[in-house]
Amino acid sequence: ERLGEADKALIARREKVLGPAYRLFYEEPLHLVRGEGVFLHDASGEKYLDAYNNVASVGHCHPRVVEAITAQTAVLNTHTRYLHEGIVDYAETLTATFPDALSQAMFTCTGSEANDLAVRIARFVTGGTGIIATDLAYHGLTNAVAEFSPSLGESVTLGPHVRTVPAPDSYRYSPEEMMEKFGRDVEAAIADLKRHGIRPAMLITDTIFSSDGIFAGPKGFLKPAVDAIHAAGGLFVADEVQPGFGRTGEAMWGFERHGVAPDMVTIGKPMGNGYPMAGIVLRPEVIAEFGPRARYFNTFGGNPVAAAAGKAVLDTIRIEGLQQNALEVGNHLMEGLTTLARSHPTIGDVRGAGLFVGVEIVSDPATKRADAALTTRIVNGLRRRRVLISASGPRANVLKIRPPLVFSRENADMLLEALEDVLKTA
Ligand code: PMP
Repeated sequence: ERLGEADKALIARREKVLGPAYRLFYEEPLHLVRGEGVFLHDASGEKYLDAYNNVASVGHCHPRVVEAITAQTAVLNTHTRYLHEGIVDYAETLTATFPDALSQAMFTCTGSEANDLAVRIARFVTGGTGIIATDLAYHGLTNAVAEFSPSLGESVTLGPHVRTVPAPDSYRYSPEEMMEKFGRDVEAAIADLKRHGIRPAMLITDTIFSSDGIFAGPKGFLKPAVDAIHAAGGLFVADEVQPGFGRTGEAMWGFERHGVAPDMVTIGKPMGNGYPMAGIVLRPEVIAEFGPRARYFNTFGGNPVAAAAGKAVLDTIRIEGLQQNALEVGNHLMEGLTTLARSHPTIGDVRGAGLFVGVEIVSDPATKRADAALTTRIVNGLRRRRVLISASGPRANVLKIRPPLVFSRENADMLLEALEDVLKTA
């Protein structure tokens, strides 16, 4: 399959005007023009099964969300310094999905801003500056947040107040080791901060460790780490930008699977099903003093259209039972992948929670040696068979399968068939 002349011309125009910071997926980039449910359509009319995009979480162009956005856009869209029921209704519905202690919400437009605000709040509340994150974390693009997003590689310098800890690798450590190791590593990072005269402000983790390679279990391994940061006077921030909104199946929020109590939870991506919205849900005590002094204002965050989009997303998750669907279809998919692994030794590990699934590709299961080249061939091979996924992890050898939550068993079977076919030739 080769790229058509029209797409080649578009790539050239794109490079010329967008410059070198923009990247495209795939050896043969995709030119998408339309989406519906779990399917995406390209410019030549081909249809692709989307097993990757978590933003369009309730399905591409879901009619309820489209209707909510367009109806509100036609009536009023302004900022949050006027009274409006939309933001209050939405915040009430949103916080009701959290444990009781997390009862207040603040709105931004991106996950990066949410994490940036979380840093400011944590530093204000604790009087400390130290931040602990994982080795390959991504928390966003602002300067403050990039300083603890090591997955950005050499393009950023980690802050002198930042310590990183290895993500809990369930493929290389036993469940017993997993339950202790992460907590011990966080304790060591706290001790190192203190040795350098830095008071810890917060521990932040993506509760499914997406960019670190997707580590969902064993449930509870986060607890000792959260206890350690609390004992040191710091806060725990759960970055739910990827796992949140029902994706992990068993719970609405990833941290709930671990039985921990975050001080702040940052959310985004699927929150508006594509309408840019994000935010923080937090314990009122955390914001009580900072709030009145912060002069917090976000021009677009929490505006009436955002509130309408967010409400439609939450309604859809509830009405369509999408959290339960994520659990059932995710388990079905993981069972299918585990079966496939029996006849394909290059599948070293299948892991995940709900519709957040990682498949680790190795050249030899005995040594667990990563095979990034094969992983790339699989991702591109699936694209040629009209199935979209991606890869992540420190060795770039973990297939990242993270479809819209409306993914059905039948869709999962399509993915499994395509993967089996790719593995024959990849
Ligand atoms: N946190 C996590 C875990 C993310 O995956 C991302 C985006 N990839 C962000 C924060 C930043 O969100 P945004 O791109 O909306 O700024």
